[in-house]
Amino acid sequence: MAAKATQAAKSMAGKAVKTAQAAQAARATRAAAKAGASGPADYDAIVVGGGHNGLVAAAYLARSGARTLVLEARPKTGGAATTEAPWPDAPDFKVTRLSYVMSLLPPTIINDLQLERHGYKIYPMGPYYQAFPEGGSIKLYADDAKRNHDEVSRWSKKDADAMPRWDAWLAGLADVLGPLLLTVPPNLGSRKPRDLNETLRLAWRHRGLNVRTIADVTRLMTMSIADLLDDWFESPQVKGALAVNGVIGTWAGPYEPGTAYVMAHHSIGDVGDGHLGNWGFQEGGMGAVADAISRAAREAGAEVRTNAGVRQVIVENGRARGVVLGNGQRITAKVVVTSLHPRTAFLDQVGRSNLPDDFVTDIEHWKTRSGVVKINLALAELPDFTADPGTNPQEHHTGSVEMAPTMPYIEQAFQDARNGIPAVKPFSDGVIPTAFDKTLCPEGYHIMSLFTQWVPSDWNEEPHTDELQAYADRMIDCYNEVAPNFKSSIIHTDVVGPYQMEHEYGLVGGNIFHGELSLEQLFHMRPAPGFADYRTPVPGLYYASSATHAGGGVCGIPGMQAAKAAIADRRTAIRRR
Ligand SMILES: Cc1cc2nc3c(=O)[nH]c(=O)nc-3n(C[C@H](O)[C@H](O)[C@H](O)COP(=O)(O)OP(=O)(O)OC[C@H]3O[C@@H](n4cnc5c(N)ncnc54)[C@H](O)[C@@H]3O)c2cc1C
Repeated sequence: MAAKATQAAKSMAGKAVKTAQAAQAARATRAAAKAGASGPADYDAIVVGGGHNGLVAAAYLARSGARTLVLEARPKTGGAATTEAPWPDAPDFKVTRLSYVMSLLPPTIINDLQLERHGYKIYPMGPYYQAFPEGGSIKLYADDAKRNHDEVSRWSKKDADAMPRWDAWLAGLADVLGPLLLTVPPNLGSRKPRDLNETLRLAWRHRGLNVRTIADVTRLMTMSIADLLDDWFESPQVKGALAVNGVIGTWAGPYEPGTAYVMAHHSIGDVGDGHLGNWGFQEGGMGAVADAISRAAREAGAEVRTNAGVRQVIVENGRARGVVLGNGQRITAKVVVTSLHPRTAFLDQVGRSNLPDDFVTDIEHWKTRSGVVKINLALAELPDFTADPGTNPQEHHTGSVEMAPTMPYIEQAFQDARNGIPAVKPFSDGVIPTAFDKTLCPEGYHIMSLFTQWVPSDWNEEPHTDELQAYADRMIDCYNEVAPNFKSSIIHTDVVGPYQMEHEYGLVGGNIFHGELSLEQLFHMRPAPGFADYRTPVPGLYYASSATHAGGGVCGIPGMQAAKAAIADRRTAIRRR
């Protein structure tokens, strides 16, 4: 008995020693991982993906003194912020091929990176314009309350009177939501002192909110844009015009809960002219925004390599150590920042075995549909609207030239796609950047960009080339109904659907934001609970894509925040050493 007891005690003691040794070894591995101590690295920081967020991250990292390398798979940087000449026989015609207007890039980034010195130049857009198939038109001005009142009065006096209150209501919400965009979401539910501290700080910062404002934010987060607009307005024309921002890039019609927030996301930026919700055209197209950021990054010392696709993120001893390129080249770094779609970044390149199971499941469940088709056109002349005649440049050519006459029209386009067919009558958010920007095509011609929805959400799986052309023809017919010269004015057409967005630009599922802006994918849930602070489950790996909080859109915030997190962690590690 006694011998057995001694043996048992010895075995327990042995187990305890082993457990202690294992814990010590794990601590040592974690400490080594945290300190980044495993021999010299080729670079301090590698940024995977040269979209605008990757470039912003690189600029901030390089400015902090880090030797930084950007690796971009395509022959050019910019990702979805790209200016291209899609017609080989007409190289003088350039289109802003995917994203098309600016509003969300905050002054902090513009100033920190001195983007204006590097070529960032915005022309504020003119009014929203919709010409109606049954006759007449409406213009909505973001910056002129008097003209807005006059315009809206033509459709509803009641709505015209409601408009200033609506604008003030939105401005009040922007005061709450705007700063939240620049807030790093706290890790809600975590009991770690740092996370609790961050949660309390967020609560403290919002201590001034009253019952009314919290109710308004709750409504915004939970309502459909249709229900919200029904509470405010009566005229179908006004509601149609205001509903567009609620469904941009979204796999949801205007009657779906959550679309009110999408409208707010698109309404809380300004282009620096002080008018909330105003949008603008970058001279040279959206590629010029990325080029300006790239110049800032390179001036700060970052190296930018194109045609350099990354195949794998190297994880050793539980820590990111660098990357392997498609050609097999291994490049090491103390820190890796990835800006790719979450499925590519984590499931394909980091690998499931290097990630916690919960996180893998969250990324597998990530919703990434859009059903967006971008149609870029070269025009021999401007659209001559029956309601506002003339092919000479006029105010209504300078803003959004919409094809979204009413909410039921928009809803029907979504219902078609949800039922598995491309919209019979798609809706479009159209713009004519050449109303201001003379750099995109030869004098006398114009470029028109149509952001349209919807085709079925699985069209990322096959090219659907002929059907996309037929869809584009129907879209053009819709405009032709209100501007009868439209069809005959088109000299070149470029149609980019979900398959091309996924396979050429890495936008998995064709989603324009690397993931839907649905409620369960916002703030502390973006891209996964516990990892909304631009860090990832792998120490040394940071996440800067539009699939993090404040994305999507060309806002650069994910890039800035990921770089700041990497810089802060590095400084803490150095201080500890
Ligand atoms: C049709 C369309 C219209 C839009 N309109 C607007 C708009 O008007 N205004 C607005 O603000 N936003 C708009 N958006 C959204 C906005 O463009 C995106 O949210 C934003 O550009 C994404 O930036 P990003 O840097 O996070 O990612 P991306 O731009 O997707 O950049 C990721 C980069 O990684 C590269 N890459 C992919 N795989 C690899 C690899 N293996 N190795 C190395 N590099 C790789 C890609 O080529 C790409 O350059 C639009 C998007 C689309 C598609």
